[in-house]
Amino acid sequence: MIEINTEFKNIFESHCHYDDGQFDCDRDELLSEMLSSGSVKRLLHASTDEKSSLFGIEYAKKYPQFYTSVGFHPECIDSLPENYAEILESLLSQSAKVVAVGEIGLDYHYEGYDREKQAEVFSRQIEFANAHTLPVIIHSRDATSDTLEILRKLKPRGVVHCFSGSYETAKEMLSLGLYIGFTGALTFKNAKKAVHALEAVPIDRLLLETDCPYMAPDGYRGKRCDSRMIYRIAQKVSELKGIPAQEVIDRTAENASRLFSIPL
Ligand SMILES: [Zn+2]
Repeated sequence: MIEINTEFKNIFESHCHYDDGQFDCDRDELLSEMLSSGSVKRLLHASTDEKSSLFGIEYAKKYPQFYTSVGFHPECIDSLPENYAEILESLLSQSAKVVAVGEIGLDYHYEGYDREKQAEVFSRQIEFANAHTLPVIIHSRDATSDTLEILRKLKPRGVVHCFSGSYETAKEMLSLGLYIGFTGALTFKNAKKAVHALEAVPIDRLLLETDCPYMAPDGYRGKRCDSRMIYRIAQKVSELKGIPAQEVIDRTAENASRLFSIPL
């Protein structure tokens, strides 16, 4: 576990993957440390399939600050069980700390995943979320126009996570009532597009996330990412929006609390 000394407190990590094998060596030590020190106040685990949803439910029982989503990521489309809708129902019934459906969406980055099936599974999971008045965590990669078409039609509440779109796309997502999540990628030297997109996002619609263990922010590049590093994203937002970094952390925590109905 790397040492991180910051004065920042109350981070709301809105998207993380602590089920990843990179955390096998020190998962509980790391989570206990960051949650007991107060540097991270709340965590939302983003599920990608049934196994990862079950991990989220298990950890939500273990740590009061740990919340989870349930859902099937578009990259799991090839191994998607036929009865996935029933599985979602059953997962949801297992814990009151399931606060979102995700991550769900469209991923056109890799060839070979059936796009029609992705759209069908994405739509069906949004309908499931809407029926249960839950927000969604949206994954959209190289698929902006098709994602927007589905979102316009089905109008979920939710967040577009790891936002990588343009200023104009951010505006469109905001006009649908959605929140926008930024990762450590915002801090990268070549992040011109993300920096411009952030200009479109008012502070009351912004969420901070790591998507850890991936995408460690500037200052930690090449290291395993964890939720404590969110303060680097807050510092970047602070620089760009002229709001103190601790206030960015506090305001984005309020946003996440509102969206996911999680008390702070
Ligand atoms: Zn993710």
